[in-house]
Amino acid sequence: MKVARTVAELRDSLLPARAGSIGLVPTMGAFHDGHRSLFAAARAECDTVVVSLFVNPAQFEEDADLDAYPHDFEADARAAEAAGVDVLFAPAATELYPEDFQTWVDVVELGRLLEGESRPGHFRGVATVCLKLFNLVRPSIAYFGQKDAQQVAVLQRMIRDLNLELTLRVLPTVRDPDGLALSSRNARLSTAERHVALALPRALATRDAEQARAALAGLDVDYVEVLDLDPPVLAGAIRVGSTRLIDNVVLEEEPA
Ligand code: AMP
Repeated sequence: MKVARTVAELRDSLLPARAGSIGLVPTMGAFHDGHRSLFAAARAECDTVVVSLFVNPAQFEEDADLDAYPHDFEADARAAEAAGVDVLFAPAATELYPEDFQTWVDVVELGRLLEGESRPGHFRGVATVCLKLFNLVRPSIAYFGQKDAQQVAVLQRMIRDLNLELTLRVLPTVRDPDGLALSSRNARLSTAERHVALALPRALATRDAEQARAALAGLDVDYVEVLDLDPPVLAGAIRVGSTRLIDNVVLEEEPA
């Protein structure tokens, strides 16, 4: 596996791969089985697998959240290599956002709902960094998790609106046996907080917004809403201590 720290190194390492198909998995690191399912799907489908590991400052509006984001580059590099990743692109923030950076992509309507309302500017940061990654890597397929359903919808909209030539592949949410969706942020939860956090997947499993809101009464709920995506999802976000958790269930599926 090659590790590319700069745009120039990434471009060099991809030169021999251009004749075949390239799969891209954008991530912020702290790999878990959710990430691994994306790596495996890319490995099965593409000649060359590129994983980006970049904690994108533009999508964090709270410095404390950005600062507390888990980092373990060595462990992530080992996990990526074990998953058969060919190129790990792990640039410094200044490599993607030089001082005079001033061009942003804003999916104006979808990017303002739910997560966008709770985290102003979040999807502008996501769309901009993903467009940069798509331009740099030029993947035929990019892999994302259903866990971030609104992110998928925002990126689909950007791909259509800007006539980008790539396919976005969406993989199901990977959960712990107790139902909690895997997330890099789960590591911050104490045992007691984790117990509280389990209320979110349980509430969403009702697949009914009213019932889910009732089930979460007394907790610090940002939103529980049906998002009219394709397919529609019941999405929710709660805060447990200093950790913000999101989750969603697809509404067309039968309850487990
Ligand atoms: P992150 O590193 O959290 O930005 O996530 C990188 C990619 O992994 C995104 O496309 C996420 O939607 C996806 N992902 C994160 N958690 C999960 C999960 N529990 N199951 C499936 N995909 C996930």
